[in-house]
Amino acid sequence: MQLTILGTSSMVPTKERNVSGIFLDYNGDCMLIDCGEGTQRQMNIAGINRNKVKKVLITHWHGDHVSGLIGLIQTLGNSEIEEPTLHVFGPKGTKERMFHLMNTVSFESKVNVKVKDLDPRGKLLKFFENTDYALECIDMRHSTPCLGYSFVEKDKLRIQMPKAKKLGLKEGPLIGKLQRGETVKVKGKEITPEMVATQQKGKKVTFIMDTQQTNNTLVLAESADLLVIETTYLAEKEENALKFKHMTTNQVGMIAHTAGVKKMIMTHFSQRYKETGEFEKEARLHFPESYAAYDFMKIKV
Ligand SMILES: [Zn+2]
Ligand SMILES: [Zn+2]
Repeated sequence: MQLTILGTSSMVPTKERNVSGIFLDYNGDCMLIDCGEGTQRQMNIAGINRNKVKKVLITHWHGDHVSGLIGLIQTLGNSEIEEPTLHVFGPKGTKERMFHLMNTVSFESKVNVKVKDLDPRGKLLKFFENTDYALECIDMRHSTPCLGYSFVEKDKLRIQMPKAKKLGLKEGPLIGKLQRGETVKVKGKEITPEMVATQQKGKKVTFIMDTQQTNNTLVLAESADLLVIETTYLAEKEENALKFKHMTTNQVGMIAHTAGVKKMIMTHFSQRYKETGEFEKEARLHFPESYAAYDFMKIKV
């Protein structure tokens, strides 16, 4: 799985930073977490094929997180894909907002836009699941309804080929069956997955955008391999953070530490900051594996 951070500025794009957008590529199954203005161009520069986006997870309807959406849909509609489908998930009211958004510009869209409102009501909500991963969300605390998201990969059986070969197995459909947890027969002898495979723990990535401190950040990020989190201000601006419902280095460092995550990437920096070295310094007082994001940063998980 690879993430590309497409924008790291809060509110407005600056010369160095675009507004929010994160591209997640899971073995070619691709999604965006937020799609601020200019996200399409950022994808161009990052060498990402926009047609690969199949899902958009909207954290909230502030412009710096959604203003690029209509442009993306228009582009997908002009692409050579036969019947492009885009799944849009977002907080309560997303369906209605999408209806209005689709009617703000004049174009014939052949994109099948499927919208789903998510309403976790304070509890972790699993809203999507396939054989490889699940998507979860929970409410954040911002000036408009806002959700945080987790991408949770499922545990997988990893076949130890030397062991399997000793039992007479070869690469092929039987290995596939074992990987799916089924028992197979070789020369009349039963072989169970436990005999040739080990469990590999799935990865978890959590995305927390605009919010003030809330216990839900801990619920959502618990034991994540990677936490991407808004850190609009340095510690001294706690008053601003409270007033505008955002977070500081101190707060996110504590969250990463308490939630037991492995690594934290800070983003959504106020435009008052030109450098982000201080962000890392301050957050590391609480959580050593803290890093400041920059536009086009790639992270392998
Ligand atoms: Zn924002
Ligand atoms: Zn916001």
